[in-house]
Amino acid sequence: MMRIDLHTHTTASDGSLSPEELVRHAKQQGVSALAVTDHDSVAGLTRAATEGERQGVEIIPGIEISCLYGKVELHVLGYFINAQDPRLQATLPKYLASRNNRNPRIVKRLRELGCDLTYEDVMAFAGPATVGRPHIAQVLLRKGYVRSVAEAFDRYLAEGSPAYVPRALPTPAEAIGLIKQIGGVPVLAHPVYTSRLKEPFEQICATLKNVGLMGIEAIYSSHTQQQTDHYRRVAREQELLVTGGSDFHGDSKPNILAGTGYGNLVIPADLLEPMRALVSS
Ligand code: AMP
Ligand code: ZN
Ligand code: FE
Ligand code: FE
Repeated sequence: MMRIDLHTHTTASDGSLSPEELVRHAKQQGVSALAVTDHDSVAGLTRAATEGERQGVEIIPGIEISCLYGKVELHVLGYFINAQDPRLQATLPKYLASRNNRNPRIVKRLRELGCDLTYEDVMAFAGPATVGRPHIAQVLLRKGYVRSVAEAFDRYLAEGSPAYVPRALPTPAEAIGLIKQIGGVPVLAHPVYTSRLKEPFEQICATLKNVGLMGIEAIYSSHTQQQTDHYRRVAREQELLVTGGSDFHGDSKPNILAGTGYGNLVIPADLLEPMRALVSS
């Protein structure tokens, strides 16, 4: 069967594979079309596209933008974006600044909690990437303060944990609006994140659709069959596209592979056709 994967990360954000390595991994996994969706960054797209041509894997230019819905952080994926659009180029530095403002404060808290690491350690580890909490988690792991990335989040970095520091985020309308302005199709990533909101999922989707949302990532590595069915039903009822992705990050999220997630993820290639129709119309 032809597999696709519409949600993956590279070293341009908090993934552990370079764009070329990601494309080769996807090819090995039998993925015929791959969306590269780094957090608040399009820096990996050109290299992924070049390697995609070499490997015969279609690369869909994408991005994943974090935003704040009420008090909860949600992520919006953008597909078939024009990465060169000046409005995007003007906005990404603002997102980067909000991370760069937050990350040293996380490290300061960690030091207060007894972890001997510096922001220089984190930057050296992340290299040219957009620094995210997974990089900080990896440094904690390498220094022996935790045994896994998951433990780093549970003990220190997750919302509600002692080293958690929020950052300034756009509203959903701003994130979705930007994706549409740059020719992209905005899709709600990992809808299971909305379970932290009290509002019913149907109502959240209606609100997001009102500001331009076009799809829901109903098929996702960590969704149960029941969750997938529920999100699919809401998508059908509200005339939103269904999409699917693994959220592959390499070592930053061990055990998830492109195309197959934890092993039994199935993202049918025909989900792409309705999206293409929207882009070309
Ligand atoms: P940031 O964008 O720097 O706030 O980091 C958020 C990213 O950290 C998410 O997009 C996930 O990739 C990752 N993440 C969040 N929670 C966890 C967790 N509990 N375990 C592992 N990775 C996580
Ligand atoms: Zn990530
Ligand atoms: Fe995400
Ligand atoms: Fe992601």
